[in-house]
Amino acid sequence: MDASEQRIKIAVQKTGRLTDHSLHLLERCGLKVTQSKDQLFCYGENMPIDLLLVRDDDIPGLVSDDVCDLGIVGLNIVEEKRQALLHDGREAMFKQVFELDFGHCRLSLAAPEGTDYRGPESLNNRKIATSYVGILRDYLNKCGVAAEIVYFSGAVEIAPKLGRADYICDLVSTGSTLDANGLAEVDVLLESEAVVIQTRAELSEDKQALVDRMLQRLDGVLQVRESKYIMLHAPRAALGEICDLLPGSEAPTVIPLEGTDDKVAVHAVCRETVFWETLENLKSAGASSLLVLPVEKMLA
Ligand code: ATP
Ligand code: ZN
Repeated sequence: MDASEQRIKIAVQKTGRLTDHSLHLLERCGLKVTQSKDQLFCYGENMPIDLLLVRDDDIPGLVSDDVCDLGIVGLNIVEEKRQALLHDGREAMFKQVFELDFGHCRLSLAAPEGTDYRGPESLNNRKIATSYVGILRDYLNKCGVAAEIVYFSGAVEIAPKLGRADYICDLVSTGSTLDANGLAEVDVLLESEAVVIQTRAELSEDKQALVDRMLQRLDGVLQVRESKYIMLHAPRAALGEICDLLPGSEAPTVIPLEGTDDKVAVHAVCRETVFWETLENLKSAGASSLLVLPVEKMLA
């Protein structure tokens, strides 16, 4: 087997809303890359992992066809590809492994302000403009609604003004584009964020080990985001109550304190946000010398 076959490929959006977040996330997993002159390829310097920089729409297909082993892309694009493949009688050869908590948006139905929308049945015999034909078709089928889907590859929001559609189905985050076009959101079809997808193709043992290692690092990076390390002193008598107050922590470490029997030090990793209220409650329960530290890396 030649050396390039032992390397894994991750598909990432080339330029767009997901690019910086995706590259930063991979950097936090310890990957260092150099970009090729054509800027389509990033060579992993310290791990046998390369990045393919492509249009986001191509990412699920590249992972499904086993050109790439992993991909970072919006759930909206993943679901659209899944529906398109299903429509052709094929099954998506990728699976979703992580939600990444960036690239949040929703795929929504919108109509000119003042439209009397009373639920999906209002869509009967109406025209809906969208680039998300697969997801919309599936939604209409599930609702038992017969509407005409008008395909737009971009600038969907101008379709009603052009008289091409009564509704649009498009991505919304702040709603300002809808506002600017005199449209109002009437229903949400899908809540989306960036996700990691993984090929379902069978990989060689070495490649699978590398994919698993990368997924474990990604999991670590995602876990530490909210995690904090808490250190405090606690009266022995209040230990039970204090441990119960520590948010999302399993089995804190209890350490004796030199020169005293009735006080101990407690160290714990808390996997949930630690609010000021939590610290105040811990203090009321008798805790003192409270310290909350960020967690840099975690390997379960
Ligand atoms: P490409 O050239 O890669 O095809 P694009 O124009 O289709 O780029 P972007 O606008 O960069 O894509 O959006 C990428 C992803 O960001 C979307 O598929 C979606 O998951 C997410 N996203 C978050 N907020 C929004 C938004 N307000 N509008 C569009 N996409 C958004
Ligand atoms: Zn795109």
